[in-house]
Amino acid sequence: MMIQENISLRNYNTFRIETIARHFSTFSDPEELLELISDKFPMLILGGGSNMLFTRNFDGLILKNEIKGIDELHEDEEYVYVRAGAGENWHAFVQYCIHRNWAGLENLSLIPGNVGASPMQNIGAYGVEVESLFWDLEALHLREKKLYTFTKTDCQFGYRDSVFKNKFKNEFAILNVSFRLRKKPVFHTSYGAIQQELERMGVKELSIQAISEAVIHIRRSKLPDPEEIGNAGSFFKNPSVPKVLYEALKIKYPDLVGYINADGTIKLAAGWMIEKCGWKGYRSGDTGCHAKQALVLVNYGNAKGEEILELSEKIIKSVKEKFGVELEREVNII
Ligand SMILES: Cc1cc2nc3c(=O)[nH]c(=O)nc-3n(C[C@H](O)[C@H](O)[C@H](O)COP(=O)(O)OP(=O)(O)OC[C@H]3O[C@@H](n4cnc5c(N)ncnc54)[C@H](O)[C@@H]3O)c2cc1C
Repeated sequence: MMIQENISLRNYNTFRIETIARHFSTFSDPEELLELISDKFPMLILGGGSNMLFTRNFDGLILKNEIKGIDELHEDEEYVYVRAGAGENWHAFVQYCIHRNWAGLENLSLIPGNVGASPMQNIGAYGVEVESLFWDLEALHLREKKLYTFTKTDCQFGYRDSVFKNKFKNEFAILNVSFRLRKKPVFHTSYGAIQQELERMGVKELSIQAISEAVIHIRRSKLPDPEEIGNAGSFFKNPSVPKVLYEALKIKYPDLVGYINADGTIKLAAGWMIEKCGWKGYRSGDTGCHAKQALVLVNYGNAKGEEILELSEKIIKSVKEKFGVELEREVNII
């Protein structure tokens, strides 16, 4: 454990943005973190860097969480309770659970990043959000240097949201997360193209392994691989609008895509709106909007974070002008 100076962050963020961290260190247990915490600089906890856009050099201390370990805590008739270190790779953890027939995480296969960031924005995909599997987490308050346990209620989960993105932004380092997984699976196959993919794969008997494989195939065919093109997945959230606005828009745009929320508002597909504004496949220099998925902004090589941020502003403006809907960024802007 050593604090390094002036470290390039290019290999620490999936957008592959070149910026410099004034100070940088990894930590692999809470004691190391406690030694590193400093009042002198702003601090930022880093996981896999797959949900961040660096728009400037970071004049502070970046602490990369590398706490490892997966433990089966206990089980009852229906559930098994599993704890994973925040620095465990998310997909590897999902596969670990699937191999043991612990069900629930299969729809969340292949989401980049680490376990510690999964509650941050309540990661979700193909009809499942981490909230539904979450049990609790342990986090260290960076200024108080005190350990806290957060239950599901404490986390205040929402759509791509939690208390850690709001009230407690940058205040805690999540050290480990516990999940409650089912011994007998409840399958979620109605969302997206899962059913079709299972048919294409010729699956006769449904299993969590088959669902995971189907999700992996779909994701590989639809989303750009950050190893090939820098990106952070969906750049924007899908906005929710009042039913009256949805109905008015639907008259003007009969192919508008919308899903009803529990509170009666309608969630619109941000990607569809961005595409309708003509951004899909747009490229200027090394900055662009992906050709297959308009929700994903990309760095083709040497784009700057500010350029990607600027493109996102133009997209927000044009969607607002055309549909009267304000898009919100999902990616954390640093
Ligand atoms: C190709 C691609 C596809 C994606 N698909 C999805 C998807 O389907 N669904 C989805 O929800 N997301 C998706 N994402 C976004 C991203 O993978 C998730 O948000 C993931 O959870 C981020 O994990 P990370 O470890 O990379 O976090 P980072 O990007 O390193 O950090 C994200 C935020 O969390 C904070 N943070 C990270 N770890 C900790 C910690 N231990 N303690 C405190 N704060 C911490 C950081 O400070 C930052 O604010 C995708 C990204 C890519 C590149």
